[in-house]
Amino acid sequence: MARRKKQEGKEKKKGAAPDAKERAVVRQEKKAFQAPDLSNWKPKTELGRKVKEREIVDIDDILNNSLRILEPEIVDSLLELKQDLLLIGQSKGKFGGGSRRVFRQTQKKTREGNKPKFSTLAAVGDKNGHIGLGFGKAKETVPAREKAIRRAKVSIFKIRRGCGSWQCGCRTPHSIPFAVTGKCGSVEIKLMPAPKGKGLCSDKEIAKILELAGIKDIWTKTRGQTKNKINFIYACEDALRKLVKTKVHPEHFKTLAIVENSIPLEQEQDRTDEGKA
Ligand SMILES: [Zn+2]
Repeated sequence: MARRKKQEGKEKKKGAAPDAKERAVVRQEKKAFQAPDLSNWKPKTELGRKVKEREIVDIDDILNNSLRILEPEIVDSLLELKQDLLLIGQSKGKFGGGSRRVFRQTQKKTREGNKPKFSTLAAVGDKNGHIGLGFGKAKETVPAREKAIRRAKVSIFKIRRGCGSWQCGCRTPHSIPFAVTGKCGSVEIKLMPAPKGKGLCSDKEIAKILELAGIKDIWTKTRGQTKNKINFIYACEDALRKLVKTKVHPEHFKTLAIVENSIPLEQEQDRTDEGKA
């Protein structure tokens, strides 16, 4: 946190930089986003209707039956979502470009001139076992962000949590039950269970995703061009999806304390209290 504050301070000092204004606008846009109002929502799909009429009250009923979510409002009304935009872009500047930005800016050369496009990657999660990632691209920043968030909500999936660390063996779901590897392009990432209190030992953007998914302690090992953040993030998604795909022997559900669905909040409270004591 301290480092982030320092960076912000630096940005303020650099007020004369050409893209400082632009960045300020982006930051405002990020803040201005509020939870959508669901009272005016008119469901277009059967599943949406069921959710609106409270026939379905648990997102795990949808995900366990692999029903397709086509409306982002479904996820909004079933989960308390937190969202974040991941830094996949880079500001223009001297000496190899500036700091990381939320929007990646690309250009197409045409007869009329350059046509810029903005793309961004959003992550949504309930910090309780559900996570979704979405990529959005448009001619301007706002629609790109809207697309990304919409797609992130629609493509939400659940993960398995547990404690597979041989150093810990505490049988509470604060980490992951076993190591998994994910791949996208040249990037390979291995997520490994870590003992309690270790924290998220990974790249900052990956840590954002893991935090939104509800994992507290993890070790990671990577290979390949991890500076390509889009591939890096997709590799992480691949790894997280493998947590559920992997077949587990029934007896290991107990020994590794595997939790598939979301943990009720009361239990969560107990857990944090125990941690403090
Ligand atoms: Zn543990």
